Amino acid sequence: MLRTLRHRLILSHVLPVLLVLPVIGIALIYVLETNILLPVLANELTGQAQLIARLSDGSPTLWQNPTEAQAFVNSIQSQSLPRIELINADGLLLASNVSTDADRLGQPLAHPALPKALQGQQSVRTTYSRFMQTEIADVLYPVKAADGRVLGVIRLSHQLASVQDLFLQVRYLIISILAFGLGVGVLVGLLLALNMERPLRQVTLAVYNLTRGDLTAVRIEHGPEEIRLLLHAVNSLVERLRGLEEARRQLLANLVHELGRSLGAVHSAIWALLGRSGDKKSTRQELLTGVERAVVHLERLLDDLAQLHGQVLGTLELNRQPVDLNTWLPQMLVSWQQAAVAKGLQWQVTLPADLPVVNADADRLAQVVGNLVSNAIKYTLESGAVQITAGQKNGQLWICVADTGPGISAEEQAHIFEPLYRGKRGSRFPQGMGLGLNIARDLVVAHGGQIQVESEVDRGSRFTVWLPL
Ligand code: ADP
Repeated sequence: MLRTLRHRLILSHVLPVLLVLPVIGIALIYVLETNILLPVLANELTGQAQLIARLSDGSPTLWQNPTEAQAFVNSIQSQSLPRIELINADGLLLASNVSTDADRLGQPLAHPALPKALQGQQSVRTTYSRFMQTEIADVLYPVKAADGRVLGVIRLSHQLASVQDLFLQVRYLIISILAFGLGVGVLVGLLLALNMERPLRQVTLAVYNLTRGDLTAVRIEHGPEEIRLLLHAVNSLVERLRGLEEARRQLLANLVHELGRSLGAVHSAIWALLGRSGDKKSTRQELLTGVERAVVHLERLLDDLAQLHGQVLGTLELNRQPVDLNTWLPQMLVSWQQAAVAKGLQWQVTLPADLPVVNADADRLAQVVGNLVSNAIKYTLESGAVQITAGQKNGQLWICVADTGPGISAEEQAHIFEPLYRGKRGSRFPQGMGLGLNIARDLVVAHGGQIQVESEVDRGSRFTVWLPL
């Protein structure tokens, strides 16, 4: 029964109500009966006794004459009155309105408070016992003559039977109210438990679905704060998994495309070389240059993939050495100059003579600048220009690669540094794997710097690398 969370929740909500309400009920009934009902009854009896005493004032012989006393008692007898007994100054029972008292008439009355009452002291007693057969409210009221002498005592008492109905009514009322409260408590507990259990079940279902590859977010985010947080966490997980799945698909598609393109170029060059075209020296040279370009492209692709692999494993370690930019930068740009010139681009490098020596990983830095220059050459059409400049500002080194290419819209600028993101510029420009800028940014950040992009559509782009000195 208690194996499920739902049952435990219901029980934890209902149990306190089940335990507390009956205790409150019993305490309430006890306090009400002993502290309120009984004192009220006793007060009422005292008031009635005073009234009867005043009535008896008109007949002073009453306390000596049992017949007259009994006639007096009978005359005031009514449904609403309790047991009435008249006792004379000697403590003998003169008259009573209860028929079973007939054989006690004329006998002394045994009552612990009677001696004091005969001396003029009023007595009020209440007794609370469920099984009592005796009186539960009892009043002895002395009647005095004008000179203060006690003429007799009026005794009024309520017996259990006469007030039992009243007590039972009170008990039923309290029990009904508590039973209603109990019902409402159980119902509220049940609703709360179900309300908590439902979203939990939804999260569990969503996690099951995740394992089966269903990456839809759990939509209903209600229930208690903690459950909503849990749902939120599951949805974030779903979102992340969806991103990873998308990246995996994109990576595979890009890989197939890039490998296919380069291999296709190599393959067709080999076919041409094996055929007649291989005979002519100039054609052979051209075909082999094409093959070399495809192989270089594949090497770069492999570099990018190795870098990505390093990122995934979190093993990006820098081998920092002093790098003299005055010699290093022009040297590393030579191969790019050839590529740019071969494409018919205007190539311009403007470097000041006092570039600093930086403490950096030269290979990684070459990869950063290489990726930026490679993009500039790739995305700029023939007769366009690529310009490299560098300098120092506010204790930082900057290297800028600018081109007169197609530019990047503000919307795309927000995404170009994401892994596997490729712009939507169609077949007019060759596309890469969408890794170059992401890798460049990670490497610059690892050096403690940052990359900035400024671009306008159809006007060109400027990528600036900032490195702290
Ligand atoms: P890719 O390998 O596809 O070039 P990158 O990460 O280097 O990937 O660049 C991401 C995208 O940014 C490119 O697909 C392209 O749309 C855009 N981009 C990068 N550099 C330039 C540039 N110099 N001019 C225009 N667009 C660029």
